Amino acid sequence: MMRTTLVETLVLFLCFFLGALVCITSATYGRKQNYGDQVVVRCSNVSRVQYQAISTQPGMDIWYISNNNIDVRVSWENVMWLRQLGIHCTILHDSVEQLVKQFEKDLMVKQEWFEEYHEYDDIIKWYEELANRYTDIVTYYPSIGKSYEGRDMPAVHITGSTAPNIFKIYFQCQIHAREWISGAVCGYIVNYLLENYGNNDDVTKLLDSVEFIFIPFVNPDGYAYTWSNDRLWRKNRRSGSPCDGVDLNRNYDEHWSEGGSSSNPCSETYHGTGPESEPETQNTANYFRSNDVILGAIDWHSYSQLILRPYGWTSEDAPDEAQLKAIGDGMSDRIFAVHGKYYTSQKGIGLYPTSGTARDWFYSDNANVNNGDYRSAGYTLELRDTGQYGFLLPPDQIIPNGEEMVPAVMYFANTLLEDPIKK
Ligand SMILES: [Zn+2]
Repeated sequence: MMRTTLVETLVLFLCFFLGALVCITSATYGRKQNYGDQVVVRCSNVSRVQYQAISTQPGMDIWYISNNNIDVRVSWENVMWLRQLGIHCTILHDSVEQLVKQFEKDLMVKQEWFEEYHEYDDIIKWYEELANRYTDIVTYYPSIGKSYEGRDMPAVHITGSTAPNIFKIYFQCQIHAREWISGAVCGYIVNYLLENYGNNDDVTKLLDSVEFIFIPFVNPDGYAYTWSNDRLWRKNRRSGSPCDGVDLNRNYDEHWSEGGSSSNPCSETYHGTGPESEPETQNTANYFRSNDVILGAIDWHSYSQLILRPYGWTSEDAPDEAQLKAIGDGMSDRIFAVHGKYYTSQKGIGLYPTSGTARDWFYSDNANVNNGDYRSAGYTLELRDTGQYGFLLPPDQIIPNGEEMVPAVMYFANTLLEDPIKK
C-alpha cells in the first residue's frame, strides 16, 4: 500500500474543506516517479541496426514506430548517446513531466465510467457487477491464475449460445502496464456486446454464433504499479537485479529471443530467462490452449494506430498471408468509417523485428495444438493515437476509441466465422 506523505495529507485536509469530488478520485493515484530530466525525441531514417541498438539499450524507451520515424523517451544524457550513434532526432515533447502532469489533471475529474480510467480493484468489481447483471450471456471466471505478485487474472466469456463446441474469439488486454486505453477499450467492447444482445440484430446474431473470451488484465501488477508509482511502467513486476520487470510481449513461446527483444533485464524489451518464464504469460497461454476452437485472437495495445499481423520475427509471409491481410485491411476500413482515424494494416515486421510476441504465438503451432483443424488468426491492435498524447491518452478519447473498434471487432468475428483459417 502507499504511504501517505505530508503533502498528500495536506491535500486531503484541503479537500475536506473544499468538499470537492475531484479530491475523492485523485486520492488513489499516487505517482512516485519524476520524469523531470526526460524528453521524447522523434528520430528519422533509423536503420535496423540502429533500431536494434536503441531497442536493447537500457534507458531507451521506444514509444512509437512508423515507417520512417521512431519516438523514444530518453534522458537528456541519452540524447547525446543517440547523437553519437549518428541518429538524427528532434525534440517531440520537451518535458515528459509536463505531459504526465497534464494527463493527471484529467484524472482528477470524476465522470461517467467510460469517461475516466479506473484502478485494478474497481475494474474487477465492475466486471463482477456486469456478470451478475447479464447472467444469461456472461460466464465470469475470477482467476485463470495468479500474477507474479499474486493478483487474480480474471476471464470473461460472453455468448448467447448454449452449444458446447461453439467457435471462440479471444481478446487479451493490458499486457503493457502503461497502455491504459487498451483495458478501457476492452471494457467498452464487453459493455457494448452485453447492452446490445437482444436489442441489436447484428450483435444478437453474432453472440448466438460465437463465444467471446476477454482477459481484462494480462499484466495486473504492472497496471497497479502505474497507478501507485510509475505512470510509464511497461513490463510486469518480476523483481530482478539490477532491474525489475519482464516484457510479457516478448516472453511467449514462439521464436523467443530471435530479434527485437533483449537479454538485459534493464531493457524495456527484456524477454525474461526463457519462453513463458513469467506466470502471466503461462496463465494466458494455458488458458488459450484449454479453450478450443479459437478462430481469432487480438492482443490489445497502444499507441500507434496499427493492425499488425504475423510475423514479427521473419519477413517471410505467413502461410495464410492473403487472408490475414484481407482481415487486417477490412478492420482498418471499418475503423476509418467511424471517426476518420486511419489505422495502418501491415505485417508485424513491417516496422522492425519482434519475437516472442503474443500475436505470433496465437497463430503458432504451439498455441493451436488443441485447436482441431483450425488455426487462430493472431493480431496486435495498437489503439490511439499517433504521438500527440501517446500513452497519456486523455480519458475523453475512451468512448470514441471504443466506438471505432466495435465495427472492426464485429467484422473480425463475422469474417472468421464465415471463412476460418484451416491448418
Ligand atoms: Zn504495448
